[in-house]
Amino acid sequence: MTLINENYLKLQAGYLFPEIGRRRRAFQEAHPEAKVISMGIGDVTQPLAPAVTAAMKKAVDEMARTETFRGYDDGGIGYEFLREAIRENDYEARGVDIDIDEIIVSDGAKCDTGNMQEIFGLDNIVAVSDPVYPVYVDTNVMAGRTGAAADKGRYEGIVYMPCTEENNFVPQPPAGKVDLIYLCFPNNPTGGVATKQQLAEWVDYARRNKAIILYDAAYEAFISEPDIPHSIFEVDGAKDVAIEFRSFSKTAGFTGVRCAFTVVPKQLKAYKKDGKAVEVGPIWKRRHCTKFNGVSYVTQAGAAAIYTKEGKKQVKEIIDIYMSNAKLIRETLGKIGYTVYGGVNAPYIWLKTPEGAGSWEFFDKLLNKAHVVTTPGAGFGSAGEGYVRLTAFGTPANVEEALERIAKAV
Ligand SMILES: *Cc1c(COP(=O)(O)O)cnc(C)c1O
Repeated sequence: MTLINENYLKLQAGYLFPEIGRRRRAFQEAHPEAKVISMGIGDVTQPLAPAVTAAMKKAVDEMARTETFRGYDDGGIGYEFLREAIRENDYEARGVDIDIDEIIVSDGAKCDTGNMQEIFGLDNIVAVSDPVYPVYVDTNVMAGRTGAAADKGRYEGIVYMPCTEENNFVPQPPAGKVDLIYLCFPNNPTGGVATKQQLAEWVDYARRNKAIILYDAAYEAFISEPDIPHSIFEVDGAKDVAIEFRSFSKTAGFTGVRCAFTVVPKQLKAYKKDGKAVEVGPIWKRRHCTKFNGVSYVTQAGAAAIYTKEGKKQVKEIIDIYMSNAKLIRETLGKIGYTVYGGVNAPYIWLKTPEGAGSWEFFDKLLNKAHVVTTPGAGFGSAGEGYVRLTAFGTPANVEEALERIAKAV
């Protein structure tokens, strides 16, 4: 008799996006003439930058010739040309000293943020924001670090940190002791960002408690305000207590190409039960190379192209398209009288539903009256109730039309 891993049975059904799809289809069937616009998608719509596709085509040609063909990426942690470009442009240029040996390339920040917990003990107490990117929670449930789902879908054993208007969507370090802390800034879904001072409080907490911060900076490229840190390593002492996740998915439209990286500083330590310190970096590399065999050369060549002069310019132009969508969404909704957050340093706008309407209730209202699909905030956690998330990833024409319809509908 084969036993199943019963931790998987604790998971709540992937409810959010299937339910959105169900409601959208039901509406479309009842109103076949309506042109529904999605402002719910967390996926990019602009094509890859020309510098990226040119580099990928060149790499394909190299793969077609014996002299330049490449097989496995030796070691599976990423070619030196890509890790060096990351080190120089993402870190050194911001005054952060990172060694290329601390950079591990992968096929996605979803996998990296999901897999990272595997190398840490099951007795660690995990803290997450609420609302939250579901990957952090679900992978800890799968690993057996939680009890069952209880009240409001919250799992026993996880420390949830509400992100609300009152704290400007940035949680304070908890009063009690936690061990593994997931933070994501700029935030999906709220669009909130942490200041350097706020991150410094977290770094201080982690240092005092020998905790580790798992910092998801997938939306770093969307930061527009000059004082907002792009990396947690801009905070003094963070290299002792933090791991940073980055991705080319949102930065350069790689959601369908797949390339990301994780930075595990050499001095980062976790502990054995007897209190003896162990270096985390080599253990993450050991796990990574045992279960993963590297990102394709063609993909890494494309990723490296975003750090060239033309690549930087083109990628910025694409991000500017999304961020002018975000500005339009924020300003238009504000003018109509909605309370909105985010959209300044992130492609997400977090809209407070009027008159205390529930997330799903307001979702239905926008679908029925404006034929616009959003994402109910409650789907990201109980503190997301009373909000919907709008994304700026649509085409400018669709965004404009959706906003006109929303304005008419109220
Ligand atoms: C989109 C996203 C990622 C990136 O995932 P990839 O696997 O690299 O495509 C990571 N974290 C958050 C919060 C995201 O929204």
